[in-house]
Amino acid sequence: MTAFRTLDDLGDVRGKVALLRVDLNLPMQDGHVTDVTRVTAAMPSILELADAGAKVLLLAHFGRPKGQRHSTMSLSLVQGAVEQVIGREIMFIPEVAGEVAAQAIGILRPGDIGMLENTRFWPGEEKNDPDFVRAIAANADFYVNDAFSAAHRAHATTEGLAHVLPAYAGRAMQAELEALEKALGTPEQPVAAVVGGAKVSSKLDVLRHLVGKVDHLIIGGGMANTFLAARGVDVGKSLCEHELAGTATAIMDAADAAGCTVHLPYDVVVAKEFAANPPSMRVCNVHEVAADEMILDVGPQAVEALGDVLKTCRTLVWNGPLGAFETTPFDAATVALARMAAALSKEGSLTSVAGGGDTVAALNHAGAASDFSYISTAGGAFLEWMEGKELPGVAALEE
Ligand code: ADP
Ligand code: MG
Repeated sequence: MTAFRTLDDLGDVRGKVALLRVDLNLPMQDGHVTDVTRVTAAMPSILELADAGAKVLLLAHFGRPKGQRHSTMSLSLVQGAVEQVIGREIMFIPEVAGEVAAQAIGILRPGDIGMLENTRFWPGEEKNDPDFVRAIAANADFYVNDAFSAAHRAHATTEGLAHVLPAYAGRAMQAELEALEKALGTPEQPVAAVVGGAKVSSKLDVLRHLVGKVDHLIIGGGMANTFLAARGVDVGKSLCEHELAGTATAIMDAADAAGCTVHLPYDVVVAKEFAANPPSMRVCNVHEVAADEMILDVGPQAVEALGDVLKTCRTLVWNGPLGAFETTPFDAATVALARMAAALSKEGSLTSVAGGGDTVAALNHAGAASDFSYISTAGGAFLEWMEGKELPGVAALEE
């Protein structure tokens, strides 16, 4: 039911030049790559194409050089890390198009892997300049996009190339799109969504989209405070966007009209100061928060009730932690609910998809990530998908 072509649809690629757009925007510290998750994600497509005899050209951006060459942002800085993960040698090519690139590509043999320079060294990348797109395409036979995390941008190498070359989704892109389709496209019902995190304002469009899509909307984190306040609860000195009370009410009304149950915590963990294990910490009903207290986590009774909700559901989408999980013990609700979701997923009764920088960190911290059905590391693209937006990089593959 996928509306895009995958590597399964490629014919004989032996000797053909593949442009493989991947996410190699790797985190670095003191000149060293600190996390190779993105390389691991890209590896299946890289090796599959190389082993099929294609000449594979890795295409990626790195940092924000804003259309100029910067030696500190050359993609050659991650070449060694990529070689180590995939266990193959890579030829670095300090261009993305033109004569020099064409000559270097001419040296590649079937099965060889080349790495083109940081696409954002050229202003045509972010401008999606048709001339730039054609210049890159001129040296290749087909295009594979394996960078879902960059698919919310209509750039030359994330979108433009798909219009001028035969275009395919890579294996990581395919897995992501299939997981997301199962979660919100045509999910098994009932569907629950957990939305947490610090602020309502950063996730308004997510909430608006989800109320029309899910049966249960579980709101936690700092954003729950704004909803509680909108319902007349005194949240003390909790993180709260009081000016968004009207918006929160409108979202709850829209949920009602759509038959979506909004779950807000009825017990919470509060403290007078934000620190690890503060002496003032206590659990109370949401109506008992004192003026000098702040809500830092969802309470244990609410978590238990939320676990019961998940047991009735077949699908779960999760973005945002339920509490200030970086500080103990305000990780308790997130950890407990994550473990319940993981157990239900492992049993096979729940399809669970989660994404978001802090969410992934929290699920890893809970030891729950590996039992989730799918964890998206895509950040911005994942959130835009949760907002119901069409991602240009995906749309271009679907044409
Ligand atoms: P993600 O990166 O997964 O999209 P967010 O960035 O939206 O998630 O939210 C994560 C942040 O929300 C965390 O830093 C967490 O400490 C904070 N947070 C969650 N609950 C609260 C709360 N009750 N009060 C203050 N901050 C909170
Ligand atoms: Mg975050």
